[in-house]
Amino acid sequence: MPMPLRVIDLLRHAARNHPQVEIVSRRVEGDVHRSTYAATYQRVCRLARALEALGVARGDKVATLAWNTDRHLELYYGSMAIGAVCHTLNPRLTVDQLVWICNHAGDRVLCFDASFAPLVAAAAAGLRTVTRFVLLSRTATMAAPPVEVLDYEELLARQSDAEVDWPTPDENAPCGLCYTSGTTGDPKGVAYTPRSTLLHAWASALPDVLGLSAQDAVLPVVPMFHVNAWGLPFSLPMVGAKIVFPGPALDGKSLYELCEAEGVTMAAGVPTIWLGLLEHVRSQGLRFGTLRRTVIGGAAAGEAMVRAFEVDHDVRVLHGWGMTETSPVAALNQPTPRQRGLPADERIRLQTKQGRELFGVEMRLEDEDGRVLARDGATSGRLLVRGPWVVQTYQGGVPGARADGWFDTGDIATIDADGFMQIVDRAKDVVKSGGEWISSIALENAAMTHPAVLEAAVIGIPHPKWDERPLLVCVLRPGQVLDADALRAHLAPLVAKWWLPEAIEFVDALPHGATGKVLKTVLRARFAAAPSP
Ligand code: ADP
Repeated sequence: MPMPLRVIDLLRHAARNHPQVEIVSRRVEGDVHRSTYAATYQRVCRLARALEALGVARGDKVATLAWNTDRHLELYYGSMAIGAVCHTLNPRLTVDQLVWICNHAGDRVLCFDASFAPLVAAAAAGLRTVTRFVLLSRTATMAAPPVEVLDYEELLARQSDAEVDWPTPDENAPCGLCYTSGTTGDPKGVAYTPRSTLLHAWASALPDVLGLSAQDAVLPVVPMFHVNAWGLPFSLPMVGAKIVFPGPALDGKSLYELCEAEGVTMAAGVPTIWLGLLEHVRSQGLRFGTLRRTVIGGAAAGEAMVRAFEVDHDVRVLHGWGMTETSPVAALNQPTPRQRGLPADERIRLQTKQGRELFGVEMRLEDEDGRVLARDGATSGRLLVRGPWVVQTYQGGVPGARADGWFDTGDIATIDADGFMQIVDRAKDVVKSGGEWISSIALENAAMTHPAVLEAAVIGIPHPKWDERPLLVCVLRPGQVLDADALRAHLAPLVAKWWLPEAIEFVDALPHGATGKVLKTVLRARFAAAPSP
């Protein structure tokens, strides 16, 4: 039957088949709120009516500035169900960036958590298209709000929760919008459609991708404002898994407590988040009671992190790769049966690869002249992707994919004969030394295998003879001491001799961007004047 794909059907399915499965949220108010798929669906019916009553029509943008909570999930579904576009804003951006993005997108309604009231107050005067502001929690008050602020719960209370006769929006028209975090350039808006969203959810739920099921309780730590929390708000209702939302509490202790209290079986987030959790668990001598899998992506999962999860805690690491432009899941590393049988060291090294393309995404490598490169695990080149959930055109008509249909990711990678892709570096981060490349990721991962090193980042610094040389910047674990020579001695057997950084700096903290990634632009600015050794 030529039935169009609709986003609301994911939640409707969960409400019909898993009505009592829980959606648990730590909220901004500080409470742990409990709901179910059935109750959430009823509230989404109310919300859809409330949005229409506010004048939201097909194609209008409903912006969110919110943590991972039940209300944010309701906003996803309520807006998409009526053919509007859910535009997730990153609250870690500056006021100027936020204003720019809202105006660029043409947002109509802005819904925000109480924590972001000061940000909204500062931005309000600059927002040219927003006509309605909605506060998502009741407890907050905005001191002298610069605009009229509506109360989310009151808006819902005015409506009926009878099931809506849902419209059928065009499956190829935008339903979601997310701007790239701008790690390497200006943010660009990527639109998702019902078709891209559902296909991505189906593919990412498969056993050898995220392997999601109704037996799971999943903790999406990756923000819902960052590529839709990797699509979990869609793939979890598809399978009827329990959802555990962390709200604003992303520190190791809060995450650990939530995992244990709610029987979390799988968690998903960027490496920075896991550093905090692992450090908490290690320092307190704790064990995970129910956690079996952790999805790591957004930045490279190094050997030290994979080892800590797999060996110390018996938690399987699913290392994945993707971008805002790829919805985002495009490659995932589930070891093959043969790899699972390898000695731990060898298997863990293979797990630092970003994995195989999932069905629907095709990857290839090209050299600078556009020649397709071998899949031999050694030859590196620019990574290109294509597929039904990869961007074609950015918001505002800016071209995304090339004319031949491939999207250039800006990443440098290898692909081996089994199809496992490994990110060598971002094209902009690779250190070009004496005409050869040094992978900043590989050097960082090697540094983080030293027990005293908590986090590491490598940037290229100008060098008169070699063009660039690597500068290694490290944060040590609390109470640890280490000097540059000792760290170099640790690195010597792990990397090529000419990769060894002459310059090593120890700092108290690394700068992180809006999505938790190390901001190499800031490091470059800070160490630009570093003397070339
Ligand atoms: P931004 O480009 O602003 O950082 P994205 O979140 O879209 O925003 O980032 C996508 C990029 O993140 C990829 O192009 C890649 O460089 C990096 N990335 C994502 N996952 C991984 C991973 N598992 N290992 C290494 N790099 C990764």
